Amino acid sequence: MSKQDYYETLEVSKGASTEEIKRSYRRLAMKYHPDHNQGNEEAEIKFKAINEAYEILKDEQKRAAYDRYGHAAFEQGNNGNPFDFGFAGGLGDIFSEVFSDFMGGGRQSTKASGSIDGENLRYDLEISLEEAYSGMEKEISFPSEKICDKCNGFGTKDGKKPPICSTCQGSGRIHRQHGFMIMETVCPECGGYGYKAKDICSECNGKGKKSFTKELKIKIPAGVEDGTRIRLTGEGIPGINGGVNGDLYVFISIKEHKLYNREGKDLFVQIPVSMVCAALGGVVEIPGIDGHKIEVKVDAGTQTGTKLKIKGEGMPKIRSIDKGDLWVEFKVETPVNLNAKQKELLEEFRSVSEDDSCQPAEKTFFEKIKDLFAA
Ligand SMILES: [Zn+2]
Ligand SMILES: [Zn+2]
Repeated sequence: MSKQDYYETLEVSKGASTEEIKRSYRRLAMKYHPDHNQGNEEAEIKFKAINEAYEILKDEQKRAAYDRYGHAAFEQGNNGNPFDFGFAGGLGDIFSEVFSDFMGGGRQSTKASGSIDGENLRYDLEISLEEAYSGMEKEISFPSEKICDKCNGFGTKDGKKPPICSTCQGSGRIHRQHGFMIMETVCPECGGYGYKAKDICSECNGKGKKSFTKELKIKIPAGVEDGTRIRLTGEGIPGINGGVNGDLYVFISIKEHKLYNREGKDLFVQIPVSMVCAALGGVVEIPGIDGHKIEVKVDAGTQTGTKLKIKGEGMPKIRSIDKGDLWVEFKVETPVNLNAKQKELLEEFRSVSEDDSCQPAEKTFFEKIKDLFAA
């Protein structure tokens, strides 16, 4: 199974309570239980995934480690790592633990076949708003692992499948008695693998995999939004011996733009205009997000806060030919640092504007407060 986020797998939020997690697990486990989905491989994979997720999230300590380190906290081959909980503490069978009140057993051993699934990987990619507008292909490289070619991924010296583990007879599980209870746990000898090599491969130290830098060309669709997660199936850590390859998740973030703010498919820009331009009208030129020049008409008498919609100059909608709009908001700028000549002209302007009819809002305001003074 490929490793999805455990919270997503259980369809709960990160802040979910233990009770909520348990409830959601019960519901999903019922839905995907093999007894109700005979021969449905997808349901089986899903069932295994929710069991694995629940095994971690129901345990406070493991959940905390997962919150902090993600799947890396429980990776194979992490023995000696303080966050490898090893499943050796007598976990028992969660499924029957939760369902024992109204259902039989039915747990599936996930590893007795000897296969190990690969981990998912995450890659964070920051792009510009222009790149999000046009879409693009991007070469990325990241640390990953590949199957060891010397041992074919078996981790054995002879490169062949290792013999069956003598402790668990290949089941990957052992039974332990705790008082009156018999608990089933993961075999500590083979780690649940079911097979145990006598001589390990010197090239990969028995891991079956080697680190390398993976290079990949990825396609970012036009119109992609900040926070989008692109899943590249099978591009994560490879699985071993028939195990499923992990996926690569590319998390897209979009850099802040100098000019534009984005909301969905629409773009927003604030344009400062001079007092004179706002009064007499004019044209302001701005660069569109696609680089072409946009002429924005300023009507005579434009006020601060006046908005204008320019159709089709926003972002593209993903997988569509539709485009959003560009919203312009004007901000009238009061002139500062006037020279003598400018002051003189403005004084003259004032002297011919005594009746205030060119400032209707100001006129109304002073009429209102005149009444208040009189009261
Ligand atoms: Zn074993
Ligand atoms: Zn090897």
